[in-house]
Amino acid sequence: MTCHWCGERLIWSARGWVHAEGGHYKVRCNRCGWTGAPYPSPTRCPACGAADVYDLHCALPVPDASDYDPWERHATHRLAAGQMRTKVT
Ligand SMILES: [Zn+2]
Ligand SMILES: [Zn+2]
Repeated sequence: MTCHWCGERLIWSARGWVHAEGGHYKVRCNRCGWTGAPYPSPTRCPACGAADVYDLHCALPVPDASDYDPWERHATHRLAAGQMRTKVT
């Protein structure tokens, strides 16, 4: 799975799909521009210490190519071909 918003790889945790750093929310610091997704969400920027961090987005999982099993896809393709053949005859 990758995040729809930032394209980063998501990991499965006890809290569901989260960013690689462990947080649902990708946050950004208004002062220095730091971004990250630690858990729990920081109230202060770990880079410059400013209490000026805000949520950019929440992780939105989107399946990528590696999430599909090629054998599974092959099987459904064969099934569709079989259905077409029975329709023709
Ligand atoms: Zn994201
Ligand atoms: Zn900062």
